[in-house]
Amino acid sequence: MTSAQSPRHKHIVLTSHPAQFGSQPHPVQWGNPNPQERGPIIATLGNLAHRNAIGTHSGGYAVYRALAIASGSLKRDHQADLTDTSPTVSIGPHPSWGDPTKIVALDPFGALDNHLFADLRAEGYDIRPSIAITKAHINIPELQDAVAQGRLKVDGKILKENGELVVTKAAIEPVWHLPGIAKRFGVEESDLRRTLFEQTGGMFPELVTRPDLEVFLPPIGGHTVYILGEIEAITDPDKPLAVRIHDECNGSDVFGSDICTCRPYLVHGIEVAIQTAQVGGAGVIIYARKEGRALGEVTKFLVYNARKRQEGGDRADTYFTRTECVAGVPDMRFQEIMPDVMHWLGITRIDQFVSMSNMKYDAVTKSGIEIVERITIPEELIPADAMVEINAKKAAGYYTEGEVPDETVLEKTIGRQYEDA
Ligand SMILES: [Zn+2]
Repeated sequence: MTSAQSPRHKHIVLTSHPAQFGSQPHPVQWGNPNPQERGPIIATLGNLAHRNAIGTHSGGYAVYRALAIASGSLKRDHQADLTDTSPTVSIGPHPSWGDPTKIVALDPFGALDNHLFADLRAEGYDIRPSIAITKAHINIPELQDAVAQGRLKVDGKILKENGELVVTKAAIEPVWHLPGIAKRFGVEESDLRRTLFEQTGGMFPELVTRPDLEVFLPPIGGHTVYILGEIEAITDPDKPLAVRIHDECNGSDVFGSDICTCRPYLVHGIEVAIQTAQVGGAGVIIYARKEGRALGEVTKFLVYNARKRQEGGDRADTYFTRTECVAGVPDMRFQEIMPDVMHWLGITRIDQFVSMSNMKYDAVTKSGIEIVERITIPEELIPADAMVEINAKKAAGYYTEGEVPDETVLEKTIGRQYEDA
């Protein structure tokens, strides 16, 4: 056996055993604007006594870490060397960071620089970042078409001659403050904890055994934020801000499937973000890892089959019903916790909100952010087969400047059948 394979403990440490697990948790005062008083979130698997959170870093990828350790390719006691990993730009602190109701689904202090909690880290506390901020050049072919058609101008700084777009990007892991999450959904914290415990197959016993641990790192996808223009413009009341909050759709975003409007709308959001940054404002694209309305891709593909095979074909009037038949609900994205990313960025007003979703609009405005204008996807960017989706959404209350389709229109909006493919 290699050292990586040999178990560190002769016996298994159950997390419900407080003598070893989180026995000296560093206190967390969620919503305290002073990071020292708020305290670090410690989800280490090193010194278990130090833990003050349930779950662990990297979301669902923790399972791959377990595979790496089990197979001997990663040392169980590997210590992250965080040299030179600090954020390339500083974001915050913003007033919202000190409001325990504004941010409940991420750790606003998660982008550790080398100074934050340095004393505790020197004492041997394994404190990991849950947010990473870096810079990138990205290249999206549709933007070059937009330049060719005169909708976008190359400025050499934000959008370069070779089509490259200069961005700052941040990856954010979910960090939930359970009392705050429960409050946001209007449920009892004990009910929330019990349901999370049961519906993850009992994966995190401390949800029910350790009510004193209020922070949970859930095994779900997080967010990526792409920022165009100067960071300071995001919070400057004299400068315009464009925002698109986009929920992951691998089929369209990456592979160009034509059954939905996801990629065209994402690219349109980036186009609006570039235009806003070029006039001195900022553009923010928030990409949420919530594949298939947070139902997952297997459910999504099952629904596609059900839509295409039903009697009368793939129709706008049964668009949501088919999802509900398979999943039990038409949507599981819970936009209620989505605005937290915007509050982390310090956003208080969005001049151009590039989204037609009434659920997103309601969540953002209810959280105290003003939305000045809503931007719909231009008709010419909608793929023919995606008319089923777009008409169903408009009829269900999604924002449109045009006419809301009535029942006759919905019945007549029929997508491609499998035999036409
Ligand atoms: Zn899609």
